[in-house]
Amino acid sequence: MHGEIRGLNEECGVFGVFGHPDAAQLTYYGLHALQHRGQEGAGIVTTDGTKVHAAKGHGLINDVFTQSQLDDLTGHASVGHVRYATAGDGGYENIQPLLFRSQTESMALAHNGNLVNAQGLKSQLEAQGSILQTTSDTEVIAHLIQRAGHINKEEAIAQALTMIKGAYSLAILTEKCMYVAMDPRGIRPLSIGKLGDAYIVSSETCAYDVIGATHVRDVKPGELIIIDEDGMRVKSFSAPIQRTLCSMEYVYFSRPDSNLDGKNVHASRKTMGKNLAKEAYVEADIVTGVPDSSISAAIGYAEASSTPYELGLIKNRYVGRTFIQPSQELREQGVKMKLSAVSGIVEGKRVVMVDDSIVRGTTSRRIVKMLKEAGATEVHVRIASPPLKNPCYYGIDTSTSGELIAANHSIEEMREEIGADSLYFLSTDGLESAIHDGEESMEHGSCQACFTGNYPTEIFPSTIPPYEKE
Ligand code: AMP
Ligand code: SF4
Repeated sequence: MHGEIRGLNEECGVFGVFGHPDAAQLTYYGLHALQHRGQEGAGIVTTDGTKVHAAKGHGLINDVFTQSQLDDLTGHASVGHVRYATAGDGGYENIQPLLFRSQTESMALAHNGNLVNAQGLKSQLEAQGSILQTTSDTEVIAHLIQRAGHINKEEAIAQALTMIKGAYSLAILTEKCMYVAMDPRGIRPLSIGKLGDAYIVSSETCAYDVIGATHVRDVKPGELIIIDEDGMRVKSFSAPIQRTLCSMEYVYFSRPDSNLDGKNVHASRKTMGKNLAKEAYVEADIVTGVPDSSISAAIGYAEASSTPYELGLIKNRYVGRTFIQPSQELREQGVKMKLSAVSGIVEGKRVVMVDDSIVRGTTSRRIVKMLKEAGATEVHVRIASPPLKNPCYYGIDTSTSGELIAANHSIEEMREEIGADSLYFLSTDGLESAIHDGEESMEHGSCQACFTGNYPTEIFPSTIPPYEKE
């Protein structure tokens, strides 16, 4: 999606079930609700207590699994994964859960996040004789667990977790047991739910609603949770440190019907829009949001600025990745896929166009042009997050600094580049207060490193790809 040098970051979703006869089928539905977190590949591993069963493939959930495959995934427990693979690590072997079979016990790992010391650990492991079969960080975790295998599994996992650094929300399944863990800073979300007596694990709470489960608790940073036939036990493998949950999860990535750290995503986005209106009000006739991720912020902006919210842009939701794109010639003749401006609404109007973020600036440029062609007299762009200036090393693909327009341009240069009459971004304070209502604490805090450059963990030289060092 971003050219051939990518390969560092991935965005993923994790789902698991323990103690339900239809574990695989429930995981299929759960992963479907997490599909926005990754569309390039998916997998499910189940256990019936003595044997593990696995299926995985490239593409969307609907394309990867057939009913007969799901029927073969027997057992009462499962872990599943959806992934967004970047070029270079999109191979079949990297699709998760990664399954390691051994004579004594199998182990399937589903991981969301990115480790910052994976390269160093890989070199160490290889020097000690390990043969790595994938390019994924997740395999490093598996090897570290295996190496500590002389102690019991729980201890081995806890020991491995103290060696890895960065972002990880993990679900690990063995024949008899499920282990759930989160990095000490809690960078990626993960929570536990219940469906009757069964335990459910999910990256986002929206998946509970789909299968009729209820959310019980978020996994806390530094926790290792063990679920087996005796129930659930919670251990801590790290002393508490400041939580830094990814603020891009609130801005763009998570579904609006999910709650992250107890806060509804739609509600936070709405507050981001409200704060934006307070910080950068402009007189206009209508407010419109870029579907789908910016609608909540646009509603907030409209409410706080007392400007009517209108459907100025509309999205055709059936444009998939394999859809045949119009030729350049047809595009020039005005054939637009995905998004169009509603001329009956915007014609002759001064429009505030709210988007959640600007990455390379392509979307904003296209939409401003579209709105003007549809007759808008002025287009004021309001972005419901601060300028994205730094790459993410924790598992969200926010592009390289070279591609991030805000990394190399002033706001005025960006305004000119996208052709807007005015351009404003939400401040970091405005973002922070929308996420935490101004109540930041050790347990509730967020990462804003892609905006501020203040990374919550050490960033090792080997984490930074060569193209970022130039
Ligand atoms: P761009 O056109 O490159 O400026 O991208 C901006 C658009 O991409 C915004 O409308 C966002 O909704 C969306 N976006 C923001 N972050 C990401 C991301 N990590 N991956 C994919 N899309 C994103
Ligand atoms: Fe999220 Fe940005 Fe921090 Fe990455 S750097 S974890 S995208 S807030």
